[in-house]
Amino acid sequence: MWHSEHNLALVALGGNIAAHPDNPEANLGRAINMLRDLDHSGLRVSRLFRTPCFPPGAGPDFVNAAVRFDTALGAAALLAHLHRIEAALGRVRRERWGARVIDLDLLALGAQVLPDAATFDHWARLPPDQQRSATPGDLIVPHPRLHERAFVLVPLADVAPDWVHPVLGRSVRAMLAACPAADRAAIVPLTAACDDDAGC
Ligand code: ATP
Ligand code: CA
Ligand code: CA
Repeated sequence: MWHSEHNLALVALGGNIAAHPDNPEANLGRAINMLRDLDHSGLRVSRLFRTPCFPPGAGPDFVNAAVRFDTALGAAALLAHLHRIEAALGRVRRERWGARVIDLDLLALGAQVLPDAATFDHWARLPPDQQRSATPGDLIVPHPRLHERAFVLVPLADVAPDWVHPVLGRSVRAMLAACPAADRAAIVPLTAACDDDAGC
């Protein structure tokens, strides 16, 4: 049994297919290998999925995946690692939601709600038109949009179907079931599960 300071970390990975049209999984594979270097245990990787750009037709598809691991690292330290990995893979932060070679989001850390439930609520309720321009200065955990994104929940269901959202009280399985069927159907697996270093 882990000491109580160890938490289940859930991380979403996304990459623009146009970054490596011949090998769209390349950057995700590199990011996953860099995550393996963190202080963790029990790391598991979802399948990789091809997901449509939103809105449809506005750009190239994405590749998405999710990773889980147990760690004693805190949320701020984890996010700093994720940003370091993004930078190492060549991400330059320009505009929000722009084309990017890699995007790593800290979806959750155990049952932690950061910085507090009211701030989580504010960001989770932000209207879509404001989501694009407003960027949280704070680290928000759970990620304020994980529960409504099929491209996050489908991969997450591979590695943590029973994790329960600490604010919404719903499991990954239940949140996924609540997503529109068309959203779920658009998420297409690219690979079998890859828990070893071979090819992913
Ligand atoms: P979205 O958050 O809607 O998925 P995005 O991933 O494209 O959008 P970014 O430009 O990558 O947004 O990140 C915007 C900022 O969000 C980052 O500077 C980061 O510090 C902050 N942030 C707040 N909470 C989180 C979180 N849980 N995971 C990742 N970044 C977060
Ligand atoms: Ca994101
Ligand atoms: Ca991000």
